Amino acid sequence: MEHPEEILDFNKRIENAISGKTPERKIWVTPLSFCLRKAALSIYLGTFKYERTGEMLVGTVLHKWVGEALGEEADFEVQVGYPFEDGWKLVGKVDAVKGGYPIEFKFRGFDSGDENGPRNLDEIEEAPKLAREQLNAYLNMMDKEIGYVYVFDRNGLQFKVFPVERDRDAFEKFLGRARVVIRGVKELENGKFPSWITPRFSNECETCIFRPICSAINGRPSK
Ligand code: SF4
Repeated sequence: MEHPEEILDFNKRIENAISGKTPERKIWVTPLSFCLRKAALSIYLGTFKYERTGEMLVGTVLHKWVGEALGEEADFEVQVGYPFEDGWKLVGKVDAVKGGYPIEFKFRGFDSGDENGPRNLDEIEEAPKLAREQLNAYLNMMDKEIGYVYVFDRNGLQFKVFPVERDRDAFEKFLGRARVVIRGVKELENGKFPSWITPRFSNECETCIFRPICSAINGRPSK
């Protein structure tokens, strides 16, 4: 019987500890689109699985539903990895791969009360920025040239499809974000708090599980 990935990873860490080697360390693609201090704290404290908000859980359920509804039509939740530097590895799970094309699913509602936002699928003209950023990371990690973002209306599950072309320059900048996280983790390991890393979006601190830590250290979360 094949062992689950967690056990294989654990085994590798034990073997590395015995042989004195530094184990390979992972940075997930998705957190790199958000506050990088949060990404660093998450790696340092090992809290990734506790950080899912209600909104993320709704997305998880809908992703699972698509995977089950389409069964063998595509490969779902495909693990990808990209060896980085200093023993670090960029890792991610592509929502689906069909015929060699990576696909990301995004589920959104149109009742957020944002007067300037799109009111329905027809009013969306391109894939959401973060979906494009993450799919572009997967395109580069998988050495593919084109992928697709499927945007679903959560109310009824109609969808619209947007092609995304590989952008090597944008991926280099994305790797720069990974380097910020690595530096942040190293500082945490050396007893320093990476206050110089600030959130990417103005409202990120509101729902962040690390808010008490950031507030206690800096007096306020983002500085
Ligand atoms: S509280 Fe704000 S600054 Fe601190 S880790 Fe969370 S999002 Fe980043």
